[in-house]
Formats: sequence, C-alpha cells, structure tokens
Amino acid sequence: MRYYAKPLNNLISQLSKLPGIGGKTAQRLAFHILSMDEKDAIAIADAIIEGKRSMKYCSVCGNLTDQDPCGICSDKTRDQRVVCVVENARDVAAMERMREFNGLYHVLHGSISPMEGIGPEDINLKSLILRLQESEIDEVILATNPNIEGEATAMYIARLIKPSGIKATRIAHGIPVGGDLEYTDEITLSKAIEGRREL
Ligand SMILES: [Zn+2]
Repeated sequence: MRYYAKPLNNLISQLSKLPGIGGKTAQRLAFHILSMDEKDAIAIADAIIEGKRSMKYCSVCGNLTDQDPCGICSDKTRDQRVVCVVENARDVAAMERMREFNGLYHVLHGSISPMEGIGPEDINLKSLILRLQESEIDEVILATNPNIEGEATAMYIARLIKPSGIKATRIAHGIPVGGDLEYTDEITLSKAIEGRREL
C-alpha cells in the first residue's frame, strides 16, 4: 500500500478497520469513493459523523437510539409487563420486523462466554436485574441466540431471576442451533416466540 499517496493510503487503512473489509476490498472501496461525486462522498462521511454523534444506548433497555429513553421504552401502548432479552440491537430490529411482539426489550450487548473470558459482569445484565426490581414485570423472554453462549446466558439469567417469582421463558427451537437471531426469518422467529417454554 506504500505505492499510494498518503491521503489514499489513509483512506484505505481507515476503511480496512471495518469488519469483513480486508485490504483488497478496502482498496476497491477507496478507489470507488474517489471516483464518486464529491457531494455523494461527503454524504457518506457526514452520515458516519451524524450517526456516531447522535446515536447512543437507551439508558433503560440498552437499545441503540437517538433519544433517551428510546422510542420503544417510551411507548406506553406496549406491554410493560413483558421484557424480551436479546444479545444485540440488531436482534431488536429482527423482532420488530416480525411485528408480533408488543412488549419491551433488554439488550445485553453480548453473551456470557467463559471461553472468551466474558462473564455476567461484562454484559448489560446488572441494569436488567435493577429494572426487574423497580418495575412491574411478569415475564422475561430469553431470546438469546440458540448457540452454546446464548443457551448458557439464558440459563444464567433464568436462575438469577427465579427467586423473584418473575416467569422466565426461553424461545422455542425452530431457530437452527448455532444460528443467529438476526438472520432468522420472521415466521420462524414468530413461531419461536409463540412456542416459548418456561425455564
Ligand atoms: Zn429503551
């Protein structure tokens, strides 16, 4: 990459910081950006700046939002007694696309993974426990991914909230084991919610 002038080199190295973008793709993207109309290229840069500056995590549920609390937490027409626990903000979007769930969410920003040294204190769990103590919640649907980490996280949370008397349910299978919630189609996801079982 030392064959390029400094500004181009810099653009390539910045782009290659993105996930899934290797050196070659970064070069291709950089050349493409340079060939674009200036206003289109600036629009991309502006969207990054605006997105980064205005989006934050909801202080209640942990979802990505430009207002705090987020639109879902502040929507009083939603069922305030059911909280669906997911691993990331993309899972909230997947659930919302399904249009059948009308409760609230809690985003963990990860899952418990002893293999990777990620413990319960490393995910957004403390705020869930606090939330369960402070609000009147009847059911927590554990919609973490159906892989080893997701299952372990669901079991851990279920055990944690059991003494409180709040019902903990786990989404049904149908979502392939090892699969990702965010890539699951709406029908499978909707069936998984419908068939959830108590833990
Ligand atoms: Zn929220």
